[in-house]
Amino acid sequence: MKLDILVLAAHPDDAELGCGGTIALHTSLGHKVGIIDFTRGELGTRGTPDTREEEAKQSADILGASVRENLQLKDGFFQNDPVSQLTVLKVIRQYQPRIILANAIYDRHIDHAKGASLAYDASFLSGLAKIETLDVHGRKQSPWRPDAVYHYVQSHFILPDFVVDISSHWETKMKAVKAFKSQFFNPASHEPETYISKPGFLKMLEARAVEYGHAIGATYGEGFTVRRFPGVSSLFDLK
Ligand SMILES: [Zn+2]
Repeated sequence: MKLDILVLAAHPDDAELGCGGTIALHTSLGHKVGIIDFTRGELGTRGTPDTREEEAKQSADILGASVRENLQLKDGFFQNDPVSQLTVLKVIRQYQPRIILANAIYDRHIDHAKGASLAYDASFLSGLAKIETLDVHGRKQSPWRPDAVYHYVQSHFILPDFVVDISSHWETKMKAVKAFKSQFFNPASHEPETYISKPGFLKMLEARAVEYGHAIGATYGEGFTVRRFPGVSSLFDLK
């Protein structure tokens, strides 16, 4: 199956928090979107890898994603090294996306910047014909270079290069975020409080989306950065 957009994320829930609205927007427009989580989030304080896997599945359904897979790299310790690059490159060649959405270029969690550079490097390497790879059926994969890699914003505020209007998909994004019941504020939970389970975290998420949205005359927005200049075919493509 060929995808239009492939979301690469260090942990299950990164995609929802960083670009859940953008995923919902594009699936509603009929584009095929897949989510690839690098790790199972096994070092997370709350929940277990199994509960997060179940939550990730439910959330992908809410967002209308066609595919969600987990590469089972090591949470906290995976590196942007040749082994990980080949693992990610094979997935990119398998799904041949035009656009990659990747982790924030820097952030509080050390895996996010690593995830960002791993996604970027694998996207580049994937286009090199002399790197030969086989798919799961043992067939030779063709090289594939996505048109663009865009990095979503996560915990630290980053001045975005462009903002996507997600006003009509905010509710869906929050439904997907809240599918990760083990991770976010839940008064009934007896698990230890974490950075993201404090009630203020979801308020911050909304405030951030309101701020980005306000900047483009929308109710809610998600911000992205790109390593090269973003281009438009017409000035009227800009909001
Ligand atoms: Zn994360």
